[in-house]
Amino acid sequence: AKVSPFLDPGVHTAQNGLAIVHLSRDNLEPVILNGEVGAADGYAEGRVINTRFGSFPHSTLIDQPWGSQIRASVVDTGTRGRKRKPDEEETAGVGSAAATPKNVKTATSGFVHVLPPTPELWTTSLPHRTQVVYTPDYSYILHRIRARPGTRIIEAGAGSGSFTHASARAVYNGYFSDSNGHMAKESSTGKVFSYEFNEDRFHKMQQEVEDHGLSGVVEVTHRDVYNDGFFVNGQSPDVDCVFLDLPAPWKALPHLSRGPRSPLRKDRSVHLCTFSPCIEQVTQTVEVMRRLGWMDIEMVEVSHKRISVLRERVGLNMPTERGSNQSAYDVAEAVQRLREVEGRFKEFHGRSLKMDVVDDVDMEEEGDANVTENGVNGSNAEGTTKPPFMLGRLIHRTEPEIKTHTSYLVFAILPQEWTEEQEAAAFEKWPCGN
Ligand code: SAM
Repeated sequence: AKVSPFLDPGVHTAQNGLAIVHLSRDNLEPVILNGEVGAADGYAEGRVINTRFGSFPHSTLIDQPWGSQIRASVVDTGTRGRKRKPDEEETAGVGSAAATPKNVKTATSGFVHVLPPTPELWTTSLPHRTQVVYTPDYSYILHRIRARPGTRIIEAGAGSGSFTHASARAVYNGYFSDSNGHMAKESSTGKVFSYEFNEDRFHKMQQEVEDHGLSGVVEVTHRDVYNDGFFVNGQSPDVDCVFLDLPAPWKALPHLSRGPRSPLRKDRSVHLCTFSPCIEQVTQTVEVMRRLGWMDIEMVEVSHKRISVLRERVGLNMPTERGSNQSAYDVAEAVQRLREVEGRFKEFHGRSLKMDVVDDVDMEEEGDANVTENGVNGSNAEGTTKPPFMLGRLIHRTEPEIKTHTSYLVFAILPQEWTEEQEAAAFEKWPCGN
């Protein structure tokens, strides 16, 4: 059976496959390159992703090594007398592609990159149906609840499926479903048991799991877990760990204790994490955890900060106090930067960037442009020359974040329940007090 691209993307993009089109650092679009022949949107070429960086017919994105840079194409938009949609220049989307790139000529302007689907990229590009768990939180959670290949995990609620994809990759241990959707080796299979109460979200999740080839690893159940617990088709899912992203996790906890209707693995301790934005939710959860015998209860908040590392172009020869020649250094630095931008533009687009400001700079001031940490013309004291990206003092800045708090994570462990026989056997082996 075919393996999900989230688990093994192969080496290149494929017809009908999911790709993440990287437009810019904060703008990624999931696209199914489904190669339908025919001008679905009225383009002679077939389906086209239109972005502000240019037009990209699906046909130019298929069979490309992952990570490829794809140049924008000149596409035939006018041949059918079709009116341009008002938002056309801004939209990029999931759709079908024509197999033959008729009339497509490569242009030299914009470009995008095609990236393989990963849980991290999916989290930043997925269609939001709810609040989601982001990578800094889920990577820590999966580590703490010891999710690894072969682990069986309960996740509730499924929401937008962000955590689902990350946990599916964490627990996948190489067993796939056959063409009928049956697992090759059920007992030894890492699996995510995902529960969603909202019917619409449940159907969307089910469809997504199927579209992403994850049916063998993820089983989605339509369920109110507060009232109806976690059994699937009358059977215990026998899980090693649990993640609850629910408004009232304490209401689900009574279904996660030991006993005949327990969905937990009997032969070992079970690890749990709850994810709640408010401290009041944490208080209630911890109270119920204590009553139900959960141990090692601990609350953690992941405070994610993006740190930008860069070089500050301050000349070593420059006076420490702002002196009379400061403005000359400022101009020199600006000129240096503009030259770099011009160089990069030329490299990517094969033509010069029209930058009047460079032409306007006085040549005398320009002479100071290379006064940097390395001295005049980029040479340092030893006379060696550094490339431009290594010039300047290395500094770091924390990027301003509007909001860093996501949720409080409460971790706990429910110890293995021992039978009387196990107790007796243990006593025989390690008799206490003798
Ligand atoms: N963790 C998800 C993600 O990363 O995309 C987001 C989960 S979302 C914040 C919470 C979800 O729990 C919602 O989709 C909601 O419908 C579901 N939910 C709320 N109460 C529930 C219940 N009693 N049983 C099952 N699901 C429930």
